[in-house]
Amino acid sequence: MKYGFIIDNRKCIGCHACTTACKSEHEVPVGVFRTHVKQVEKGTFPDTRRLFSVMRCNHCTDAPCVEICPVEALYFRPDGIVDFDKDRCIGCKSCMQACPYDALYIDPDTHTAAKCNYCAHRIDVGLEPACVNVCPEHAIISGDMENPDTEIAQLLSREQTNVRKPEKGTIPNLFYIDGDAFSLVPSSTDRSDNYFWSEQSHGVGHFAKNTEKLALSDAQYTEKLAYNGDDLMKTLMQNNGQTTETDGTPQKSIDVLTGQNVKRVYDAPDKGILWGWEVAAYVMTKAVSAGAFLVPFIGMMMGKVENSTQLNWWTVGVGMLFLMITGGLLVKDLDRPDRFIYVLLRPQWKSWLTKGGFAITIYGGLLAILGGLTWFGVQNGILMMLLQGFTAATAVIVAVYTAFLFAQAKGRDFWQSPVAVLQMATHSIMAGASAYLITGATGFLQNNSFFNVILGVGIVVNLLGMLVELTMTHPTADGKRTVQAILKGQYTTDFWTKAIGLGNIIPLAMLYFANGDSFVMALAGVLVLLGIYFTERIWIEAPQRIALV
Ligand code: SF4
Repeated sequence: MKYGFIIDNRKCIGCHACTTACKSEHEVPVGVFRTHVKQVEKGTFPDTRRLFSVMRCNHCTDAPCVEICPVEALYFRPDGIVDFDKDRCIGCKSCMQACPYDALYIDPDTHTAAKCNYCAHRIDVGLEPACVNVCPEHAIISGDMENPDTEIAQLLSREQTNVRKPEKGTIPNLFYIDGDAFSLVPSSTDRSDNYFWSEQSHGVGHFAKNTEKLALSDAQYTEKLAYNGDDLMKTLMQNNGQTTETDGTPQKSIDVLTGQNVKRVYDAPDKGILWGWEVAAYVMTKAVSAGAFLVPFIGMMMGKVENSTQLNWWTVGVGMLFLMITGGLLVKDLDRPDRFIYVLLRPQWKSWLTKGGFAITIYGGLLAILGGLTWFGVQNGILMMLLQGFTAATAVIVAVYTAFLFAQAKGRDFWQSPVAVLQMATHSIMAGASAYLITGATGFLQNNSFFNVILGVGIVVNLLGMLVELTMTHPTADGKRTVQAILKGQYTTDFWTKAIGLGNIIPLAMLYFANGDSFVMALAGVLVLLGIYFTERIWIEAPQRIALV
């Protein structure tokens, strides 16, 4: 048994009855939607046409929202419905980052994630979903796709259908008959301020506080991205199962089949930046905590750093302090911070948020044991060696797990980059060395050129990593648009001045000319930590500016 939906665009009249029936059935608050009707207009007055596309959860067979959820709040039912349990949800918003279709929202009343659940409570008593029941045109068809006697199975075998973003590999179970590529491919139309109810594009209700007014209007921003229309058209044509010849000139919002203008005229509110400064800050503090152990450990392995009580105390102190700040930021970012412990008590092991949560907890425990042994004067011996080896392995996981978490967030194309692991590992090494140099200025730790050198090497590797990241061919139009937002768009100034200049080039020069001056080296360390924060902020924010619907 496998439930699915067909949206028959030949019949939809854009009446929004499905939207309101769903709102009523599930008491969905103002400003958020489980289903909505996106509207796109084609042509020039008076020769125009308005196209409607019902948007909602696709009840994917390979649902990334289920995989990333750390507490099994999202789950598959045996009948294929992807349902959720609001009593489990911790409000981490990772499902919203993972869903390529923007199907989830945070309920402003419960502060937990919600979405279309196929009206599972109605299905269980033999009824159809509320939207199917209310549709005056029978444009929404539900049912068991594996039963050949159902209408949905027969339509699927008879009609040509398409789905949204098939390239994501999620295997959506919502099919469109006569699906229009300009409605189904988000980047094919601008999100502007100039359409019906469009004041909602800056957020209402819960999202008003999260949705920033951009320095540029969305229309200017999209213009500034100046993405390559050729790539876009290829995507559109591929999604339509067609091919086309284009000359490479930007053809934004022109239907190449008909030559008509196309514009988005009605949509759901923009959800804004879901992961903001807290996530960028916690990635940085986590890097300091892991690096505080890893850098001296690498130094000891290479024979460049001597094991000492003072160094052990420093490692334990800095590692623990920044781990606690990391935990605090993680909890602060939750919409249900009161439930943070669910990650440990109700773990869903496929989620990298769960794996990361456990790695952080274990790392904290190992640092505490290390502190205890140092207190009792144990510095060497087999026990200490084993403990240090195990702690180093855990510190590596703490340093890089976020790269895997971002990769699970399939909604953000830019985060799918394999370079992210290298970047997180490098940031950790840079952060650990920086923390040492900063402490060095207080006189608590001895000057050691190893930390100076490893920070310099870290900066060079970091710059090379960014060069690869921003010059390699990102496979999707959204990935390319993010790169352009960083290099030639909204984030350009911050990228060149804060991330590259302040965070890498200036400290690299300071290290080179420091000549053993511990104050200059400490200042370089402070700038590097700021640079890591600014880089992560850009890397985390920029992809969230790309519309998913
Ligand atoms: Fe629904 Fe999105 Fe999850 Fe797919 S990934 S099941 S569309 S919420």
